[in-house]
Amino acid sequence: MSIPPPECLKSPMHVPSKLLMGPGPSNSPPQVHQAMLKPLLGHLHPEFTQIMDEVKEGLRYLFQTKSDVVCCVSGTGHAGMEATMCNLLEPNDVILIAQNGIWGERAADMASRHEADVRVIKKPAGEIFQLDELEAALKEHRPAVLFLVQGESSSGALQPIYGVGPLCQKYGVLLAVDAVASLGGVPFFMDQWGVDVVYTGTQKVISAPPSMAPIAFSDRAMAKVRARKKPIRSFYADITWLANYWGCDGSPRKYHHTGPVSSVYALREALSLVCAEGLESLWARHAACAQRLHDGLTALNLQLFISDPAKRTPTVTTIKVPEGVDWMKVTKYFMNKYRVEISGGLGPSAGLVWRVGLMGYNCTSDNVDLVLKIMKEALDQQSIITS
Ligand code: PMP
Repeated sequence: MSIPPPECLKSPMHVPSKLLMGPGPSNSPPQVHQAMLKPLLGHLHPEFTQIMDEVKEGLRYLFQTKSDVVCCVSGTGHAGMEATMCNLLEPNDVILIAQNGIWGERAADMASRHEADVRVIKKPAGEIFQLDELEAALKEHRPAVLFLVQGESSSGALQPIYGVGPLCQKYGVLLAVDAVASLGGVPFFMDQWGVDVVYTGTQKVISAPPSMAPIAFSDRAMAKVRARKKPIRSFYADITWLANYWGCDGSPRKYHHTGPVSSVYALREALSLVCAEGLESLWARHAACAQRLHDGLTALNLQLFISDPAKRTPTVTTIKVPEGVDWMKVTKYFMNKYRVEISGGLGPSAGLVWRVGLMGYNCTSDNVDLVLKIMKEALDQQSIITS
């Protein structure tokens, strides 16, 4: 054989234990890791489809929806975004994207790949969209779909969703929301708020490993999918196939793809922890830890990137890098000395901020205090100051 087995696979893999305090993934609790050790089942075995049904119930609670179509795309948060775009959009459909960071940019990129007519309203990173601004844009562009990002993890902004649903209904628009970086950390009410499609990722507040994108479609969204003139361009992300595999359409389940069996166990376990704590308590824990972090950072004379507390998502805090400080030296200090991850900026915030995540299992006052202690220590190091 001209290609021998690689040398690197002869030694065990190296996986250090790290505290992941960036914008995701967050660490998973031990029970969630243990769930993945359970025996594999076939992806259509009744014991496994029962677990899938339990996951669906947990997701209905998390999304606060009674919708039939609640399932997961196998893949990460981006897979949820792809599924949203490819199912809702046909060529030349107008989609209006509220862009205030990288996730609105990605959404525009994906929508244009589906040959949608992409219209964008833009705000600087850290800003959010008011209802009257959204209404004016809906009137002007008359889109089929409005896309919002609830927790813009590149800037730390929290886009209010309340009130947008009725506006969309008034103009005959479907409302799609990216809740990857926010769901579970802040209130979200799919049915009450009139959201038509929402997706998230398993690795953020849910604190399961990255692997699936939980997603829900309203009846209105499914009506648009069923009325399509052209077939959905992605077989893998076709919501009608996914809904069948996840037992949402009342028909016997057919083989669509092999579900990520162990990841579904992990999600089932993580959702049982979410349910045991209760959403109100989870939201309150995120609010309290974020407040503790923001107060502590202010006490260190650091400034938050978003000055208005009402516009901040508690799940991702963005901190201005002070003049003369090398942001990367600080993130390296966290990692090299303490094996703690915090991140730099992303997209429009690159080079300007650090991002600290408070998500799910990692959202504790002890972790906040540790981040504050390391930040103080790092900023006290002469070598970190560049000028
Ligand atoms: N949307 C938002 C708001 C995110 O924060 C992320 C992940 N950082 C994604 C989408 C994409 O998720 P993933 O990296 O899991 O594909």
